[in-house]
Amino acid sequence: MTTVGSEPAVEVEGISKRYATTTAVADISVTVERGEFFTLVGPSGCGKTTTLRLLGGFESPSEGTVRLDGEDVTGVPPEDRDIGVVFQSYALFPHMTVGENVAYGLQFTDPPGGVSVDERVSELLSLVDLDGMRERDPTALSGGQQQRVAIARALAPGPKVLLLDEPMSALDARLRERLRLQIQRIQEELGVTTVYVTHDQEEALAISDRVAVMHDGGLEQVGTPRDIYHRPATRFVSEFIGDNNVFSGTVQESDSPSGTLQVDVGPTTVALDTTRPDEFSPGDDVVFCVRPEQLSVEEGMNRLLTTVTGTEFLGWTTRHHLDWRGQELLLRSEHELDGEVTVGFDPDDAHLVEVF
Ligand code: ATP
Repeated sequence: MTTVGSEPAVEVEGISKRYATTTAVADISVTVERGEFFTLVGPSGCGKTTTLRLLGGFESPSEGTVRLDGEDVTGVPPEDRDIGVVFQSYALFPHMTVGENVAYGLQFTDPPGGVSVDERVSELLSLVDLDGMRERDPTALSGGQQQRVAIARALAPGPKVLLLDEPMSALDARLRERLRLQIQRIQEELGVTTVYVTHDQEEALAISDRVAVMHDGGLEQVGTPRDIYHRPATRFVSEFIGDNNVFSGTVQESDSPSGTLQVDVGPTTVALDTTRPDEFSPGDDVVFCVRPEQLSVEEGMNRLLTTVTGTEFLGWTTRHHLDWRGQELLLRSEHELDGEVTVGFDPDDAHLVEVF
């Protein structure tokens, strides 16, 4: 027998979704813990929305199981799943006031905590910082405010899981950043398990407890934002999450006791640290990456002679584009750089991604 309350909030096991000519989701298994802010991120068409729709019951899987709080809900329709959903478009009813839109979320359920509908609507409008907007026409609100009404409506019945599908895609950059902080605060305040979909990797890192990077219908890596950024598990993740310099090389020598590999990259040999030196043998092809902020000018044990091809002043930093033997490298530095520049990195600045 399952003990209510001890199971993960969401468990997806071996789930796939095939359409006539496409496999949108291919054999995904993942667990979301109670109270976690969990984000699915990946490029357009990788299967994020389909995965979320499978969690919500808006699609039925070709294979696999979905469990919420330990209960198999694979065949259960969305209205019986105890979930709140917010889609890309605001989907508010224009003929209803803001307050009526939020109350609509309670048409099939009593408000949690024994409060009246009226009190619940006030609670939620306050939670999403829209006190005083109750009688307003939703079409007279900004995009960010409308999306907060949609969040309040989804949260009104006190769902176990909140599903958010690119809720900020229609907003401009500044509004997105503000709403992202508000969503984070609301989620923390309520502790509601949240599954969030975005194609924006920066948003995913900023908002989540854990991130799942999707590619071609599958999961490439699941981890904390720091794990995903500092220890990408695959080349795809290293290139998709943040700026990166990705190198292909061949192991020349592995010094197991010290954990340092000598790797040939073109005519240059570089030293790289690894925690798993025994896995490498001379002749192995490897991929490693060095973040732009970890490349330095005229410093570091490993040196590469490059040519500056472009400079972007971004305010908080300056990003330089460099050419190294036909490969573009990125470097962040406040120095003015021009012409030939030697850049370097230490063995522990590099992260090994793949062995073949
Ligand atoms: P985006 O960020 O562009 O919304 P996504 O990562 O959310 O993309 P999905 O919408 O899940 O991706 O789509 C994954 C794949 O499945 C795509 O190739 C898409 O064309 C296909 N697909 C999605 N829904 C259907 C459908 N109803 N019928 C056929 N193919 C579909």
